[in-house]
Amino acid sequence: MNIRIGLGVDFHQLAEGRKLVIGGITIPHHKGGVGHSDADVLLHAICDALLGAACLGDIGVHFPDTDAQYKDIDSKLLLKQTIDLITEKGYSVVNIDSTLCLQEPKIKPYIADMQQAIAQIIGITESDISIKATTTEQMGFVGRREGVVAYATVLLETI
Ligand SMILES: [Zn+2]
Repeated sequence: MNIRIGLGVDFHQLAEGRKLVIGGITIPHHKGGVGHSDADVLLHAICDALLGAACLGDIGVHFPDTDAQYKDIDSKLLLKQTIDLITEKGYSVVNIDSTLCLQEPKIKPYIADMQQAIAQIIGITESDISIKATTTEQMGFVGRREGVVAYATVLLETI
């Protein structure tokens, strides 16, 4: 079996009045991610991990934030396009593991919905998509509720 691993990391500032979109789900909160797109930190980290595993560059290469067509775009569409790119290269996704770092709100109630949203796009089962969440124990920009971070690893295999 020909397998390849990929790593993705993404950061977004949090600001009042923005929608908080994580893992393809809108989470009720007074702050949300700042970005050119919907600022979905988890889907962006997963896209970067997928592109990295296929050695296809990064999300900024394929979906530049200077391009008006990506303004406020639903990041589920970016994930779908990323899956199309790795499929064209002859790969399919084995599994994903990820960790979100944010101080609030609590993410656990939304994880099953995120897994379902991502599974539908990628065409794998929820049990192949791990999403974990942690705070930074009040430390740093995450602890000050100024931003959110996501890390993702993926494993691809040749089709
Ligand atoms: Zn991002």
